[in-house]
Amino acid sequence: TMAFEGLSTRLQNVFGKLRGKGKVSEDDVNEAMREVRLALLEADVNFKVVKDFIAKVKDRAIGQEMAKSFTPGMVVVDIVNKELTELMGGTQSKLAKANKPPTVILMAGLQGAGKTTSSAKLAKMLQKSNHKPLLVAGDIYRPAAIKQLQVLGEQIGVPVFTLGDQTSPVEIARSGLQHAKDNGLDYVILDTAGRLHIDAALMEELRQVHEVAKPDEVLLVVDSMTGQEAVNVAKSFHEQLELTGVVLTKLDGDTRGGAALSVKAVTGCPIKFVATGEKIEPLEPFHPERMASRILG
Ligand code: GDP
Repeated sequence: TMAFEGLSTRLQNVFGKLRGKGKVSEDDVNEAMREVRLALLEADVNFKVVKDFIAKVKDRAIGQEMAKSFTPGMVVVDIVNKELTELMGGTQSKLAKANKPPTVILMAGLQGAGKTTSSAKLAKMLQKSNHKPLLVAGDIYRPAAIKQLQVLGEQIGVPVFTLGDQTSPVEIARSGLQHAKDNGLDYVILDTAGRLHIDAALMEELRQVHEVAKPDEVLLVVDSMTGQEAVNVAKSFHEQLELTGVVLTKLDGDTRGGAALSVKAVTGCPIKFVATGEKIEPLEPFHPERMASRILG
């Protein structure tokens, strides 16, 4: 995969220099941090996030942690690794589970972000751990969205509930939930309509679906290739819909990584899953510490 390549290479260069040093002065740290700052900005990480990040790392690096160490270069790398992990949420955020099944997961996002594909991937992941998911086709506006979900459902052997495109999404959500209860299915994944841009009508409809479905989990699907735009989208959805997590898609592309590194800090909402590829493989839980290590190489 090419994702984060630019950022990764640049950070490895910066730390390669530091690692080799027996002694690391405050100037060395400042110089390294200047380069890290540029690398993060070029990777399209949010400006304020970068500023806070650099301040935190410098604070710790120039503080006592280094003074005590015989390998100060390694200490700086370690501090950056820990802070990068923190930035992305620290620990892995688990999928919520209802006290009484079914667990309801609302999938939201802009059109083209990968909502329908990710819904199927999530279903496959749940199915793999012996759950019985139901996919509910609630995107009645995009032509062929229902058909797409049906095809994917059939491909992975997960039932798809639809009432066609002439029934309101609210009614589809209500009936879908009932269908899951009646059939002993323990997870309901609600695919919803996306628009090309955030608009009031879409939000209002989502709010109504939310009210009826009372989801345990509201996942926003965002396209990591759109960088800061993904973060802005997450911010506005979160303000209006109380998201519980983000699914970051298209990490297989040559994304610069800005979205992955900014979403949690800007929105307060953790990335719960990442998606790669168009093929329906199980959705992968997002591990901040693994991602940090991958970036630092
Ligand atoms: P929706 O409008 O949000 O439901 O988006 P779709 O699920 O239909 O996905 C839009 C396009 O992106 C489709 O061509 C998908 O195959 C593709 N896609 C979705 N997720 C990924 C991903 O993780 N990686 C790649 N490379 N393509 C993806």
